[in-house]
Amino acid sequence: MGVYTTTNPATGEAVKTFPEISDAELQELITRSHAAYRSWRTTSLDERRAVLIRAAEIHRERAEELAALLTLEMGKPAAQARSEVALVASIYQYYADNVEKFMADEPLEISGPGTAVVRTEPIGPLVGVMPWNYPYYQVARFAAPNIALGNTIILKHARNCPQSALAIEQVLTEAGLPDGVYLNAFVSSSQVADAIADPRVQGVSLTGSEKAGAAVAEVAGRNLTKCVLELGGSDPFIVLDDADLDEAAAAAATGRLGNAGQACTASKRFLVQAGVYDEFVRRFVGQAACWTPGDPTSADTKIGPLSSESAVEELEELVEEAVAQGAEVLLDGGRTDEPGAFYRPTLLGGVTPEMRLYSEELFGPAGVVYRFETVEEAIELANDSPYGLSSSVFTGDDEKAQHIAESLETGMVWINSTSKSAPDLPFGGVKRSGFGRELARFGFNEFANKKLVRNP
Ligand code: NAP
Repeated sequence: MGVYTTTNPATGEAVKTFPEISDAELQELITRSHAAYRSWRTTSLDERRAVLIRAAEIHRERAEELAALLTLEMGKPAAQARSEVALVASIYQYYADNVEKFMADEPLEISGPGTAVVRTEPIGPLVGVMPWNYPYYQVARFAAPNIALGNTIILKHARNCPQSALAIEQVLTEAGLPDGVYLNAFVSSSQVADAIADPRVQGVSLTGSEKAGAAVAEVAGRNLTKCVLELGGSDPFIVLDDADLDEAAAAAATGRLGNAGQACTASKRFLVQAGVYDEFVRRFVGQAACWTPGDPTSADTKIGPLSSESAVEELEELVEEAVAQGAEVLLDGGRTDEPGAFYRPTLLGGVTPEMRLYSEELFGPAGVVYRFETVEEAIELANDSPYGLSSSVFTGDDEKAQHIAESLETGMVWINSTSKSAPDLPFGGVKRSGFGRELARFGFNEFANKKLVRNP
């Protein structure tokens, strides 16, 4: 049986391991989740709201302690870890504040006599499969709406953040969630497949890579289980001639380098209009060069280590391969000499479609800058990607911004800003970035039975 391990990526030290559970233990978890569903779905909204409010409070009260686990397990700098905890508190609070509105019957305008309403009801136990890059946030945006709705959850977290995974279960238990409503499961991929195939399980939500998404979707499809997939991205960041270049360059650095570049909605491809290309690159390089990797526990550190040594190796390989094929090095970063999974910001130009990183996701602090002449050319280049998650457009011309927003094949567009997440903004992509939405009312409805009740 495999293990889940906390390895400090700043030092490479393996800190603690947790064994996977057995198949019989997984069966017990599914039984508990199913039993819990039967009673949780009948609880009052006040009861559910109280748990969500308390979960939000606990996140605020224990922000330091919870944030420290993120820093330990995946190297998130302390300030960014605290921001993640604050965002998570706001997600639990948001669903507490809105559950009544989201559960309210929706009367329909019908042609015949009588009345009809659409009622919002839960569907049953769900499986969540989550990644390590925002360990609390990824779970919260799935767990908070579904707990509010009355579903129950079995959660398989990434195997490099077991302590964060246990902390989530602990917080929700302390918040008053009854036994079985949220269960952490240290399981293997094949056990995830077994859980999805179990007739008691009614849905699965995965956030992660295309490969994992495809594997889960295949099992879900075979078993006719509803699934939501939040997968990778290679978000374009478009800068037009009339953009505020200082603002754009600062945003480009934050958009590419926050969370050490390990965000699905990080800006990854920078498309810059010819008239400002040189000046934008100069400012972007200047900004990015200031993000010096350092100790993630220090309050001043903006960029910590990547999540693991293998993450550095993968990024290094993509970058070195492109350079060998003729890419231009605009900012020469790369691996540092210190121990730990550190990688300095790197920017490349002159990237062509033959290079792997033209179409693959760069999951770390390395970005690619392209030059374009016309707005239509920028749109074509931006859409020439298998992904369609989010995007950013920097311009002083709102008409152009709206035209580009309409033309981009992405699930989200941010004008004069990098992509961000908030409880009241739906989040999700198109193309190979997945399907379904999380957060806001849209996330609430993904695993709801929209039941028609037709009255005579
Ligand atoms: P990953 O390898 O796909 O892992 C994500 C989760 O899926 C982990 O819990 C992993 O478990 C599990 N998993 C992997 N293969 C599986 C399988 N065959 N069956 C069931 N579960 C499986 O992704 P990652 O490399 O950790 O995370 C980075 C990726 O996630 C990037 O592509 C990023 O863009 C994407 N992401 C997307 C969003 C979004 O909202 N669209 C947000 C964040 C990240 P193990 O740890 O046990 O392998």
